[in-house]
Amino acid sequence: MEVVDPVELTRALVRCPSVTPVEAGVFAPLEQRLEAMGFSSRRLAFRSTAGGQSVPNLFARLGTDAPVLLFCGHTDVVPPGDPAAWTVDPFAGEIRDGRLYGRGAADMKSGIAAFLAAVSRFLRDRGAPRGSIVLFLTNDEEGPAIDGTQALLRWFRDNGGRFDAAIVGEPTSEAIVGDTIKIGRRGSLSGHLTVFGRQGHVAYPQRADNAAHGMVQLLARLIGEPIDGGSAHFEPSTLQVTTIDVGNPAGNVIPGRATAVFNVRYNDLHDAASLEALLRARLDSCGVRYDLRVHCGAEPFLTLPGRLTDLVGDAVFAVQKLRPRLSTSGGTSDARFLAPAGPVVECGIVGPTMHQVDEHVRIADIEALTAIYRALLDRFFDRWQC
Ligand SMILES: [Zn+2]
Repeated sequence: MEVVDPVELTRALVRCPSVTPVEAGVFAPLEQRLEAMGFSSRRLAFRSTAGGQSVPNLFARLGTDAPVLLFCGHTDVVPPGDPAAWTVDPFAGEIRDGRLYGRGAADMKSGIAAFLAAVSRFLRDRGAPRGSIVLFLTNDEEGPAIDGTQALLRWFRDNGGRFDAAIVGEPTSEAIVGDTIKIGRRGSLSGHLTVFGRQGHVAYPQRADNAAHGMVQLLARLIGEPIDGGSAHFEPSTLQVTTIDVGNPAGNVIPGRATAVFNVRYNDLHDAASLEALLRARLDSCGVRYDLRVHCGAEPFLTLPGRLTDLVGDAVFAVQKLRPRLSTSGGTSDARFLAPAGPVVECGIVGPTMHQVDEHVRIADIEALTAIYRALLDRFFDRWQC
């Protein structure tokens, strides 16, 4: 068996322009290496919306026994934007001054390549693990994320699958690979607020009811005091107003209707229902006629520090001689879909340029992440008792 070179594999993946949800050949180099290592793999396309585009996913498994280590990643990338703004071809995988450039280099093709390389080194040195390695790779993370990890997990469980621990290879590190891992993420809830007033002449406000004034009152109430003070593992929840629209071009007309949109990133002190109740209580106290529609994009989740975080921490320490910070910051991730089924930690490369022009990773960081994943595989299969 040929050992997987993580840098070469990252380049091969970057060269496939797999902008969500187009697979663009990105699974082939993975299937080839997975099959060479003895994995059985299969493509699974799910389509939840009638008439919508189906999303390609790749499932792979080595072994049948417990314990099961699950690795999750996404092969899709965000669009490069204006290619002329890049100093390199975003899909060439160019290496310059010890850095590998390209869309998806950081988020997160290098993470997948590092994991495959780590598995191949493990198999070379130790042979088949006493347990199983399962991979969920999706080409639908940057998009709606409905037919990706979520659908893979449903399919896996429907077929009797289970896992003991899950690693998501998103870029979580800040400055040194392994310095930060994510043990949870905040929830996201959007609110669409409408205020109903009565249109009128600005000179006769007594005959009108100014919807803009009502909106100002409501928003002031929403942002006037903190939602909470944070929890043991999370920062305080935050509310950001993203738009306020009255759409009134006339300087002498009192508007009869105003709308606004806000988003709340909330911690584990709330779920969507309790947060909505809290927001409505604040709005109700204003005496303004309004309508609120909320949409929960993600509930928060937390993997409590314990067996899995210790395992990842020890693997990082073995390679980097530092202990990772356990973070819950940042946007939502696919880890939220796995959390209800088992402990999940996100551990990946340093990625400050993700989603940016000239996205790149340090070659040395790909090697460091490979070593960390390898150390993690060793510890998982040595220590994990079911
Ligand atoms: Zn990502």
